[in-house]
Amino acid sequence: PLPYKGISYEKAQYMQLNNVFPQVQMYEDPLLLHEGKMQWLFDYKGKRYLDMFGGIATVSVGHCHPKIIEAIAEQSGILGHVSGAYEHPKMYEYVESLVSKMPGDLKTVYLVNSGSEANELAMLLARLHTGNQDVLSIQNCYHGVSGNLHGLTALASAKFNNTPAGISIHHAMCPDVFKGIWGGRKCRDSPVQTQRSCECDRNHCRAADNYYEQLENIFSYSIPRGKVAGFFAESIQGVGGVVQFPRGYLKRVYELIRSNGGLCVADEVQTGFGRTGEHFWNFQSHGITPDIVTMAKGIGNGFPMAAVVTTSAIARSLNSAFHFNTFGGNPVSCAVGVSVLKVIEEEGLQQNCLDVGTYFLEKLCGMRREWKIIGDVRGKGLMIGVELIDGDQDDIDNIGVINPLNCRAVSRIKNDCLKMGLLFGVGGIRSNVLRFMPPMCVTKADVDFTIAVLRRAMQNYYEAKYRNNL
Ligand code: PMP
Repeated sequence: PLPYKGISYEKAQYMQLNNVFPQVQMYEDPLLLHEGKMQWLFDYKGKRYLDMFGGIATVSVGHCHPKIIEAIAEQSGILGHVSGAYEHPKMYEYVESLVSKMPGDLKTVYLVNSGSEANELAMLLARLHTGNQDVLSIQNCYHGVSGNLHGLTALASAKFNNTPAGISIHHAMCPDVFKGIWGGRKCRDSPVQTQRSCECDRNHCRAADNYYEQLENIFSYSIPRGKVAGFFAESIQGVGGVVQFPRGYLKRVYELIRSNGGLCVADEVQTGFGRTGEHFWNFQSHGITPDIVTMAKGIGNGFPMAAVVTTSAIARSLNSAFHFNTFGGNPVSCAVGVSVLKVIEEEGLQQNCLDVGTYFLEKLCGMRREWKIIGDVRGKGLMIGVELIDGDQDDIDNIGVINPLNCRAVSRIKNDCLKMGLLFGVGGIRSNVLRFMPPMCVTKADVDFTIAVLRRAMQNYYEAKYRNNL
């Protein structure tokens, strides 16, 4: 690694307390990273880490991928900014490549800079197009934290009980087939079946029916029939702890929303760009075509960019409002976007997600059989969650009780992995789900390393637990 010549670690630590707003603290001591190369990160001392979190599913093709660096350098030297008031052909080049990936009539693009901006715009579009105000999302979701989205995301109200969701925002129960009150634990569209008994056959899921009916009831007591503006959902909840919905659920909800006058918005911020392996967009695995798709994170491999893609009819609704974005669609972002799509294609990264992800899921399922602490293994491609529990897996199926592993224990395991050079995320409402969303270039050897480190960390946790009665 290159020597780090910037601010000292001690000074950065001081400034973290005094000069910057507090952010999500991942580790006991802040991890100050200096350099990255594909799936690897290096801290200021030169210690190497395998990055199995990818900046929260954001580094799609690899840290400092040479082709992306080249695209940034080349376009920055030609023209870096035109401010929306003028245009640069790079934008059209990018839009052409992006819409070639979109199904149906989803061919009109608005380029912005973050997932929050994309979802905020999607909400505005849904309201303008339908003339309705009420918007619906699913508990445990994450769509961003701008003014309106704070309510839609509802993380603050769900986790800390201090922020009301806001007017005209509603939440349906989360159809979580692991922890939710209705079963169907095996009925998820994972390439690997992780649970023991399935309560329903593949074409008919009782859990999906129950959760669907709960959502439908919202039209009896909260939203007048025919008066919904839009429904937002991730096709796998990311921050919420890699929650997969039961088969058929989203399809039925889309039909219900449309029959009540609303638009369906797929948030593909984490699940898009081939990460889930089978499809380029994960909504495709639910057999649905949204009215609006929002995307960010992996779109730019870490470069701040995002997009809203919709039909030309819905896009035209924006004519009745004023909307402007200074940086959206700037030529450098567009050059990055073109390059990311090319690299995904040329390096077969979607297929790699499927191959390496399935290998990883199988290894984790094997671990689940050995370690009682692993309650559930789920996900698709390189979007994987491991839910840690306190107690016995048998309790889950026999009496339906699931106690999450407490966050101190989870944090201990995570910190132990950090020391051994492995990074991953933690999510879920109880912060007890390990999240793996690495750069899409990781290999089976990286998975083997990850499994070995996880095993060691769990072993250490058990030893400490029995030694210290933790
Ligand atoms: N949607 C999803 C699914 C996300 O995970 C996130 C970010 N975690 C967002 C939207 C918001 O994106 P941003 O942080 O770029 O505003």
